[in-house]
Amino acid sequence: MTAIGVMGGTFDPIHFGHLRAAEEVLQGFGLERVIFVPAGRPPHKLHSEVTSPEHRYTMAKLATVDHLRFEVSPIEIQREGPSYTLDTLRELRDSVCKGKTLYFITGLDAILEIHTWKGYKQLFELANFIAVTRPGYSVEVFLTLEKVLGPECFSKVHPFPVTLLAIASRDIRRRVREGESIRYLVPEPVRLYIEEHGLYSGRADETR
Ligand code: ATP
Ligand code: MG
Repeated sequence: MTAIGVMGGTFDPIHFGHLRAAEEVLQGFGLERVIFVPAGRPPHKLHSEVTSPEHRYTMAKLATVDHLRFEVSPIEIQREGPSYTLDTLRELRDSVCKGKTLYFITGLDAILEIHTWKGYKQLFELANFIAVTRPGYSVEVFLTLEKVLGPECFSKVHPFPVTLLAIASRDIRRRVREGESIRYLVPEPVRLYIEEHGLYSGRADETR
């Protein structure tokens, strides 16, 4: 097996929507493993308050430690300045993923914005993209991407239906803030970590 999945995200916090999508892609594409890459300072989320990279990295580790084919990479949180997927894919290609085919996994919501990512055309030289379904985003909308990306890049994006889980980190943060339970939305060790460190409870209301 020579293909590796890479799933980038803020993971604030990581939840079963991320994990289940990665699991189904791992199986469906016969990947060797999936590497989760928590973002350092996501350029598109600069203006909202984001939990420290160390907390988000630790939660991703806790969520994946029992899976032999799931890994978490600290490369983005160790890098100075904003996180760019382009830098990450280059770094992975030249190190742990040398000689392997890279599949970058995103949700349909994220792929629709890919043309706003730094050096997006070059991204397609480094990796194929797997766009997993997510509640609220139709495959019809996905098809509009062809016009935006052009046929060559678009041919490297593979839509992939996964079990639809209407779970979002933003909703989890809101629940914690409002004192609601998040049990069964995140792995139990992640829930306990959030509780132990008092994450999300004191945060001002998000407007985004
Ligand atoms: P937020 O609400 O803060 O934006 P999120 O739940 O969207 O958080 P991200 O860290 O932004 O999580 O997402 C990382 C990647 O995982 C993105 O490509 C996103 O599309 C995908 N993703 C997130 N949640 C789901 C889900 N429930 N099903 C499928 N894909 C998902
Ligand atoms: Mg998101």
